[in-house]
Amino acid sequence: MPRIDNDIKLDFKDVLVRPKRSTLKSRSENRVSYATASSSTTSYTVDLMRSYNFRNSKQEYTGIPVMAANMDTVGTFEMAKTLGSFCVFTCIHKHYSIEAWKEFAVKNPDVLKYVAASTGTGKADLEKLKQIIEAVPGIKYICVDVANGYSEHFVQFVRDVRKEFPTHTIMAGNVVTGEMVEELILSGADIIKVGIGPGSVCTTRKKTGVGYPQLSAVIECADAAHGLGGHIISDGGCTCPGDVAKAFGAGADYVMLGGMLAGHTESGGEMIEQNGKKFKLFYGMSSATAMKKHAGGVAEYRASEGKTVQIEYRGDVEMTIQDVLGGIRSTCTYVGAGKLKELSRRTTFIRVTQQLNEVYAANTKEH
Ligand code: 5GP
Repeated sequence: MPRIDNDIKLDFKDVLVRPKRSTLKSRSENRVSYATASSSTTSYTVDLMRSYNFRNSKQEYTGIPVMAANMDTVGTFEMAKTLGSFCVFTCIHKHYSIEAWKEFAVKNPDVLKYVAASTGTGKADLEKLKQIIEAVPGIKYICVDVANGYSEHFVQFVRDVRKEFPTHTIMAGNVVTGEMVEELILSGADIIKVGIGPGSVCTTRKKTGVGYPQLSAVIECADAAHGLGGHIISDGGCTCPGDVAKAFGAGADYVMLGGMLAGHTESGGEMIEQNGKKFKLFYGMSSATAMKKHAGGVAEYRASEGKTVQIEYRGDVEMTIQDVLGGIRSTCTYVGAGKLKELSRRTTFIRVTQQLNEVYAANTKEH
């Protein structure tokens, strides 16, 4: 007989963060600008930098723990250059050549500490990963990514990667439940990617009926990971800066973004002009577009298909990332968290039936 879990599981849209009394300055005061002789610098009273010590690699990370997804259209070298200047991380997609990696590393040595090399779990994937890391020893992070992180083959692959690279920090996923988070951490992964089905160009829930509401997945998986000294990434489902803040509030150590960073100058994907308007193509890693592009190589990547969408060209990603970081800083001020580190401790979620007033949705420009 099928079992029904009657516990209520929630998505970002089901909650808001309750404001809390605090001694922190107000939102308008949370930015202090000052000019130096040669440049103008902005310092913020809310600190988004975090430092983590990784359980298995024994390495340390310091930076703002927001990440660009390892998708063709988002995890590009151009994205890494811009995001790196904000101390924000990029998981580089797995389709760059070794030559391209070498060139990037030579030209951008300072950005390397904010990037991961991605891999699938095939034999050829592991070979290529070895070659990339041999060619670019400055890479410190490996992102092992499969649609379904529940297979024994995947766990074994993570063990093999750990054996091969004892001091690299390994990200692995995707999963959505505590027991699998624990198994992956005990198999050598440091940071577990959490999210099945919430992505903006993902059709897993539609095609398979499988998934887990993202906010609850993050709360439960963070608890499991932190109990073992591991870390998690909330991957997918963020549609606005408020969702990113909710993911951190729920206990995510990192938040990974696809759609929110798509459609920019730095994003991959073809630019299309239609009726005088510019659009960029954004597609899931198992969409027909991705499969055609990487003929043969990606067919097994995602168990179910992803979509292809055209999004209006959004200019440089700098504006968007500032918007995201500004949003998180404001969330912190509303709950009295002087640092991102304190946000989850100070978060109380309230369940809601509506979160946004959409009356002017059609007339609103993004920024
Ligand atoms: P977003 O931020 O756009 O909501 O979600 C990004 C995440 O969606 C990625 O990091 C990845 O985990 C997931 N994703 C990307 N492409 C596909 C796909 O083709 N199918 C599925 N099921 N998930 C995808």
